[in-house]
Amino acid sequence: LSQRLSQLRDLPGETADGTRIRLSANIEFPHETESCIERGADGIGLYRTEFLYLSSLDEPSEEDHYQAYSQVVREMKGRPVVLRTLDLGADKMGHRPLAEHEHNPFLGLRSIRLSLRNLDLFRPQLRAVLRAAAHGDIRVMFPLITTIAELRQARMLLNLVAEDLKEEGIEYRSDIPVGMMVEVPAAVVMLDKFVGEVDFLSIGTNDLAQYTLAVDRSNEYVADLYQSCDPAVLRLIARCVEVADQSNTPLAVCGEMSSKPSRALLLIGMGVRNLSVPPSTLPRVKKAIRSVTITQCQEIAARVMNLEAARDIDMYLQDRLEDLV
Ligand code: PEP
Ligand code: MG
Repeated sequence: LSQRLSQLRDLPGETADGTRIRLSANIEFPHETESCIERGADGIGLYRTEFLYLSSLDEPSEEDHYQAYSQVVREMKGRPVVLRTLDLGADKMGHRPLAEHEHNPFLGLRSIRLSLRNLDLFRPQLRAVLRAAAHGDIRVMFPLITTIAELRQARMLLNLVAEDLKEEGIEYRSDIPVGMMVEVPAAVVMLDKFVGEVDFLSIGTNDLAQYTLAVDRSNEYVADLYQSCDPAVLRLIARCVEVADQSNTPLAVCGEMSSKPSRALLLIGMGVRNLSVPPSTLPRVKKAIRSVTITQCQEIAARVMNLEAARDIDMYLQDRLEDLV
C-alpha cells in the first residue's frame, strides 16, 4: 500500500472544519475485511450476505453463515458490522430457482419478500446472525422493506429464532440493533411510521433510483434514464434526512451514490453523516471530505436542490469538485 494511502488511513473522516463523517465499507466476502482495515474504514456499513449463496454450489448451512459472519466481526476488531440479510432474486439469483419465471423480477419475489416466504432459507441465516453477534458488534438490516407489516414479520422471526437458541442452550446475543434499507419510495413516504420500529436506517440509492424513476438499473436500453442524481431521488433522500433527524434515528447512505466524491459532498451538504462505500473508493471519498468545509457542502446542496435536471446537477457537482478538491 502506498505511503499516501496509509497516511490517509490514520486521519479521521472529517470535513476541513471538523464535522465528523463516518466512513464505512461495503463488502460481499469475508476476505474483504483486510482491505477495509487497510483503508481505515470505521466499520462495515453493508455486508451483502447473499454472496455466500452466489459463490457456492451448495446451499450454505447455518454453520457456513456463522463461520463467515464470525470471521468478519472478529477481523473488524470491535468496529460495527452491519449485516444485511439475504437480498436474493432479480439480478442476484442463486443456483436454485427460487421462483417460477417472473416477467418483472425487480418487481417480483426478491429480497425480504423471498426470505419471508422461504423460512428454510431465512431461519438458518438469522440464527447465524445472532450466534455471531456473541463475538462482536453485529447489527442486522433488512433489505427492500416496503411495508410496516414486512418489517414486523422479520423482527418477529428474529425474536422467535432467539427463543429457539435460548432453549437449545446455544451461545447467542439477541439485543442487537435492527435496521432497514430505505430503497423503495413507499418506505420513504411512510418513513415517519417506520422510525419508531427500527434502530437505524440505510438508504440504498441504487434501488431507490430504480424504483423512483421506473428504470430497470440493469437494462442497457434505458441506462441513460437511470440517474441517481435525479431531482426526484434527491427530494426523497432529503425527506429521509428530515425524518431521521426529527426522530434521532441514525441514517447512512450505502448505495453507489456515496462512493462518488462529488455526490458524497452533496449528501453531506444535505445532512448525511454516515457513508458506506466500496473499500477501493474509501480513500478518494475521505480525501474529498477532508478538503471541504461543511458550509461549502451545504452551499452545494442548496444550489443542487434548485436544479431541475440530473444532467445539470452532475455537471455542477463535477465543477465544484474540481474547484474544491
Ligand atoms: C442499493 O440498492 O443501493 C443497495 C446498496 O443494495 P444493492 O445494490 O445490493 O441492491
Ligand atoms: Mg438494493
